[in-house]
Amino acid sequence: MAEKYYIECDCGKRARVELHEAGMDKRCQACQQMVRVPDTITLQQSSGDNYPLLRPLEKILATLREGEPPFDGLCHHCECRDADILIPVKLRILIERYMKDDGGIRPTITGGVKLVASAAEEYWKEVWFPLLLCSECQKEYIEDREQRRRKRRWELLGLFALLGAFLVFAYFFTAIVALCSLFFWLLLAFCWASQFRNRIKLQAWQLPWLEEIRWVSEALAMEDEYNLETGKTLDLRKIRHIIEGSENTDDNLSPIQWWMQQFKRSYFEIP
Ligand SMILES: [Zn+2]
Ligand SMILES: [Zn+2]
Repeated sequence: MAEKYYIECDCGKRARVELHEAGMDKRCQACQQMVRVPDTITLQQSSGDNYPLLRPLEKILATLREGEPPFDGLCHHCECRDADILIPVKLRILIERYMKDDGGIRPTITGGVKLVASAAEEYWKEVWFPLLLCSECQKEYIEDREQRRRKRRWELLGLFALLGAFLVFAYFFTAIVALCSLFFWLLLAFCWASQFRNRIKLQAWQLPWLEEIRWVSEALAMEDEYNLETGKTLDLRKIRHIIEGSENTDDNLSPIQWWMQQFKRSYFEIP
């Protein structure tokens, strides 16, 4: 994914700029004021990677802990409006897998043989980070999800229509045709099901959304085996309301920090 560049407005908001916009004036989405974009070298130097020595996943966790970009509260999709919702993302990474037993047929002391099942022990590490979206981009996100769901439903419907056609055909013709048809149908169904399984593991439609968070695609590229899951969507305005209504004297707590407190246990351990 392309490197991201930002400028900071006097009003304190951050705005995303492209490298070709260097030297031009850009309007701040928050206060409508014009802001001068610096030259390309300054842009590149200030591209905001405060942790050049950390691994991508560590950068995600470090910026999250500090409330720095990309977790400073801007929408991850349009990067010009404040986020209204938070979607928790659970990333599970395979750290280690070792075989306890190879399995196979083994001779026993008494002269017989026995079948030993192979067993693998796995160690997975779990990391949480949020996908932040404004209400505009959330609509797009939901539409994206519905579109994939509809597509899956049509695929399933088509598969059964095909089976029906095969059965009618087989009824009027020979049993051999029926067998061939069934074989091809099973083959098709198997292909469809295996694709379905992959989708659950990777959440294919969500991946482009998650990769809009800086360093996520780099972090995933470094892992051999992982899976991503998203949790229940949280309304950041509601969280803000909870924070304001609480007795807590720590009033500098941002909604994202509040959310992080809920996951405190293993949150900042670096995998
Ligand atoms: Zn501004
Ligand atoms: Zn947005």
